[in-house]
Amino acid sequence: MTMFSLQGRKALIVGIANEHSIAWGCARALKEQGADVAVTWLNAKAEPHVRPLAEQLGAGIMGPLDVSVPGETEAFFAQIADRWGRLDTLVHSIAFAPKADLHGRVVDCSAEGFATAMDISVHSFLRMIRLAEPLMPAGGSCLSVSFFGSSRVVRHYNMMGPVKAALESAVRYAAAELGEKGIRVHALSPGPLATRAASGIDHFDTLLAEAATRAPTHQLATIEDVGAMAAFLASDEARNLTGGVHDIDGGYSITA
Ligand code: NAD
Repeated sequence: MTMFSLQGRKALIVGIANEHSIAWGCARALKEQGADVAVTWLNAKAEPHVRPLAEQLGAGIMGPLDVSVPGETEAFFAQIADRWGRLDTLVHSIAFAPKADLHGRVVDCSAEGFATAMDISVHSFLRMIRLAEPLMPAGGSCLSVSFFGSSRVVRHYNMMGPVKAALESAVRYAAAELGEKGIRVHALSPGPLATRAASGIDHFDTLLAEAATRAPTHQLATIEDVGAMAAFLASDEARNLTGGVHDIDGGYSITA
């Protein structure tokens, strides 16, 4: 017996790069609970890696979406409006920071690099929520993905710390603004996971090893763990939850 169902729900998943992506874990979990999914890839270079995964899920809508290209987000949402006429769940699982800025001290990061990281990792979520709002007349859920480095200094996480802090705050304000429409907004906050984005962080292997040691469960988070939480938050059973930052980390974030 399934505890909840997403049968017939429509979900947009932004952020699959490959089968290690957190977005892939979310897409699979939503699909397994019965949702129809739409899947995006960054660009032509990413398409051969993502298209087969989208096809595996029987994605009804798929195509390119680079949030830094003007009009591309709007065009993808227009496809959703045309084909589905509505959207129940948005999963925004993307982040970016220029390497030179990411690898230096936060106090040294450039204004341009900081603005780019904020635009792709935070403001793009607000833009997507704004486009999703008219497609969610009966409510829905909008999820993004954050990290513990938002509220604590995690060595080598550097400028993504302030960027994730802004993301979590944006989640709270959007949740407050859209709550009366039944649109719920959350951040999923997994412990460190070996993905392509994570490989851009210096000494990420050390972070993984520390997390496995420190977490009370001694288990690293998996994309299946994140997917399960995403599917639950997308369900009607989570209808009265909003504005949260949900740690999915074996308890890593409670330890000193
Ligand atoms: P990933 O590399 O699999 O996914 C990152 C995605 O961001 C890619 O699909 C990439 O194409 C997309 N992206 C980057 N720039 C984009 C743009 N301009 N337009 C559209 N998409 C763009 O890595 P991941 O770890 O699955 O990352 C997903 C999210 O999870 C990120 O927000 C990341 O910060 C967050 N996160 C990751 C970890 C971790 O340890 N891996 C932990 C906590 C949070």
